[in-house]
Amino acid sequence: MSATQSTTASAATAPDPARWKGWIPVIGLEVHCQLRTRTKLFCGCEYRFGAEPNTRTCAVCTAQPGALPVLNREALAYAIRAGLALGADIAPWSKFDRKNYFYCDLPKGYQISQFDRPFCTGGGITLESGHRIRLTRIHLEEDAGKAIHDRGAHTLVDLNRAGVPLIESVTEADVRSPEEAHEYLERLKEILLHAGVSDCDMEKGSLRVDVNVSIHRPGEGWRKRVELKNLNSFRNVAAAIEHEIARQIAIYESNDPSQQVVQETRLYDAQAGVTRSMRGKEEAHDYRYFPEPDLLPVQIDAAFLAEQREKLGESPTALRERYQRELGLSAYDAGVLTASPAVSRWFEECAKLCGSPKDAANWIQNEILRGLSNEQRPAAAIAELRVTPAGLAQLIGLVQKGTLNVPGGRQVLRAMLETGKDAAVLVRELGLEQVSDTGALEQWCREALVGKDKVIADVKAGKEKAIGALVGPVMKASKGAANPQVVTEILLRLVRELP
Ligand SMILES: [Zn+2]
Repeated sequence: MSATQSTTASAATAPDPARWKGWIPVIGLEVHCQLRTRTKLFCGCEYRFGAEPNTRTCAVCTAQPGALPVLNREALAYAIRAGLALGADIAPWSKFDRKNYFYCDLPKGYQISQFDRPFCTGGGITLESGHRIRLTRIHLEEDAGKAIHDRGAHTLVDLNRAGVPLIESVTEADVRSPEEAHEYLERLKEILLHAGVSDCDMEKGSLRVDVNVSIHRPGEGWRKRVELKNLNSFRNVAAAIEHEIARQIAIYESNDPSQQVVQETRLYDAQAGVTRSMRGKEEAHDYRYFPEPDLLPVQIDAAFLAEQREKLGESPTALRERYQRELGLSAYDAGVLTASPAVSRWFEECAKLCGSPKDAANWIQNEILRGLSNEQRPAAAIAELRVTPAGLAQLIGLVQKGTLNVPGGRQVLRAMLETGKDAAVLVRELGLEQVSDTGALEQWCREALVGKDKVIADVKAGKEKAIGALVGPVMKASKGAANPQVVTEILLRLVRELP
């Protein structure tokens, strides 16, 4: 299968058995997602990405003796909202556990996590093909700090991130291909964004993906499972899985006893396009989980649950259906405009103000989103643009009224994005008001017809499309300020008037 084949096209069908020489991949995904609470999970420190190291810490998150954790209710609310958005069952009673391990970025020597009683169990995401990726569980836990190894002989530790709330969602091994993994992650991100629980910004580490990959022959048991880490984009996740499946097949088919697939963690090197062994089985931890004695078990009552359900709002699927049904958008347009709540809010406001959802959808997709990277789209980037929904609506209005043609509109929008000025002001400044002076237009049209006997003959013979060849020169003469439709009409009329 070629790498250019789109994910949606290939995910729509079960994987082709010939693709992996009859081997069947079994893939599971674990996603850590940072909740967008104001403060950390068990203390009042405010986390901010990029803050001066060790300035967002206190006695609790640096594990000073005697400091006690207090559960952040907002984090609990977000965790439950995430569970509801993913169709999971919310446990009426759950608890925290200590996960013990030693590392320099973990000052307590244990992480407060959830072991046998997570907040959420079940749920899942149904892919475009109808194949459902089931969730095993979602639990709430605190993040560790950051160990920075690339500073000469020393390892530096920044504890700003220690104690930041995370939800970890774990799928069943239902994913069957790299494309399905990619699609699952896109959907998951969309759902979490719309639920308002995380900014899901991979560049800032607020979404981290680990993958488990094994392969087997039809009817045989699953073989050794390899964990992949260091996957910093969805594209890398798919590429790493593709590579890992091929690596495992090559080893099993080599019949070389010196080569073995071992249960281990491998890091993906995106630049080299390979995975490298990180640690062997000897590192497989016994975390000695036990209930966290400093925190009470958590009981979720019906009122709290109802409150979270209410705050959840429309799911991306419901939003897409509504855009198609009520606003007449295509499935594709609805999909693009609902990829993040920031974009859908922007779109809805603009559509309402300009009165034409289709025009708003076109302008936003073609002119606004095209300038933003995939990573920026879901983030606040669209809200930080120098153009507001009202500003774009005003511009669309000018085009609808015929004050501006579409290419002129694009030019104005680019200037709006750069300067933040009003569309109407820029139309004047750029001298883009459409030439409505038919005298001038007719003159340019007459000039364009000079010597174009072939075009004239073609049009007279009924091939009106031939006139298109002369629209360009007239547009050029008007410096782009003419309306191509009007120009076409004038040219056709002039040809008909010719003897
Ligand atoms: Zn703290």
